[in-house]
Amino acid sequence: MALFDKPAHVLHDMLVKKEISAQELTADVLGRLDAVEGDVQAYITTTREQAEEQAKAADEKIARGEKISFLTGIPGAIKDNICTKGVKTTCASKIIDNFVPPYDATVMTKLNVQTPVILGKTNLDEFAMGGSTENSAFHPTHNPWALDHVPGGSSGGSAAAVAAGSAIWALGSDTGGSIRQPASFCGVVGLKPTYGRVSRYGLVAYASSLDQIGPLTRDVTDAANILNIIAGRDEMDSTSSAAEVPDFTQALRADVKGMKIGLPKEYFTKGMDPEVEQAVKAAIKQLENLGAEVVEISLPHTEYAISTYYIIAPAEAATNLERYDGVSYGERIDGEDLVQMMTNTRTQLFGEEVKRRIMIGNYALSAGYYDAYYLKALKVRTLVQQDYLEAFKKVDVIMAPTAPTPAYKIGEMIDDPLQMYLQDVCTVPLNLAGLPGLSLPCSMSSKGMPIGLQIIGQPLDEATVLRAAYTYEQSQEYHKQMPQLGGKN
Ligand code: GLN
Repeated sequence: MALFDKPAHVLHDMLVKKEISAQELTADVLGRLDAVEGDVQAYITTTREQAEEQAKAADEKIARGEKISFLTGIPGAIKDNICTKGVKTTCASKIIDNFVPPYDATVMTKLNVQTPVILGKTNLDEFAMGGSTENSAFHPTHNPWALDHVPGGSSGGSAAAVAAGSAIWALGSDTGGSIRQPASFCGVVGLKPTYGRVSRYGLVAYASSLDQIGPLTRDVTDAANILNIIAGRDEMDSTSSAAEVPDFTQALRADVKGMKIGLPKEYFTKGMDPEVEQAVKAAIKQLENLGAEVVEISLPHTEYAISTYYIIAPAEAATNLERYDGVSYGERIDGEDLVQMMTNTRTQLFGEEVKRRIMIGNYALSAGYYDAYYLKALKVRTLVQQDYLEAFKKVDVIMAPTAPTPAYKIGEMIDDPLQMYLQDVCTVPLNLAGLPGLSLPCSMSSKGMPIGLQIIGQPLDEATVLRAAYTYEQSQEYHKQMPQLGGKN
């Protein structure tokens, strides 16, 4: 019996009942990883020996009769921009490709209490800048549903690993869609919690007012359980929320009777693939049949969200990335003087997309343009936020596509950055407003690629998002499908 194709909660129950051991499970997932990784290339670093030791320790814990936690002995993977003590954390960049953090991110500290098995660090767009994982300085990742397609990004490695079965669960980060969009492209569940719900301490900063860590999983139950583990106030991150963390598994009830679902007309506009529109509307109809009420709403500033995001995110990125100067952080390429050394280092070791963002960001922040671009973007950000707050007076959740199209081919968009930015139309508004959002599979395109439904919630109301998602999930089978991967299933 294969184990790699099961969600964590099923495997957890099997471990509790002693039907399997953590070592058997880990061997099964590592076997799968060996079989598919050459094709999928989800990982930058694998930590096989550590994983085997962790599995052994989990089995010893079980043998001692200790109560085990949800993730005890369950193999998962971590996006390579989350600091892991003693394990290389590269952000898929040449500029820190030898960085071995001397500390764990808070999410890792919290996970490690559970004694999980960590298989390695997953691929991403360099410093999480991108939507296809093609901007990795090392290699692209391939979509397990069609290897010549992108897995989405920037958490493309995490999404592809979970979809392919080379990890049972994974962590990603989402600044403008980087958990939800790859989840949508790879047919898995991806949850971006409310800004502040999960500590960012130890997440290598891209755009600090937007970044948030969250889970990528096989199903909604796993997402709720992992959010339980990683959420909560952290003294090391002053932006983390002190709000009480509910038990999110309480939200796993198939019940949407009376729930008001907002359907924002601005999310179904030009550039949207008709198959995506149809699939998402059918999913919402399904929830209506299950007792929800659908209300048409308007989020009038949606059309400005992309331009706003692509000012604010690069501005923050330019500032955050100043530290990679060949002196304080990262690698160095020498030059005849200090300026030449820094120029060589940053010109040669940052990739094209990162340099583009640094230039856009510094331009928007420079004297003379600050008011016209950065300040204006901050004002529009408030308008986007207000749109949502207004809408949430009438509805409990908002539903929309996660991405305007299913996954596209590797190389198809990489030479057209603007086109790539426009792909983020459905995801970036949530980051600007700090709202929670979840993507879950709701259909397959005629070409056999997954399509994601996005569920958007009020600040700190991940519970209602999870309940809506769980209800939909229980009514269909898309989350149970796995890609064929050249007959390797
Ligand atoms: N695609 C978006 C960008 O390139 C989002 C990335 C992210 O969420 N990290 O910025």
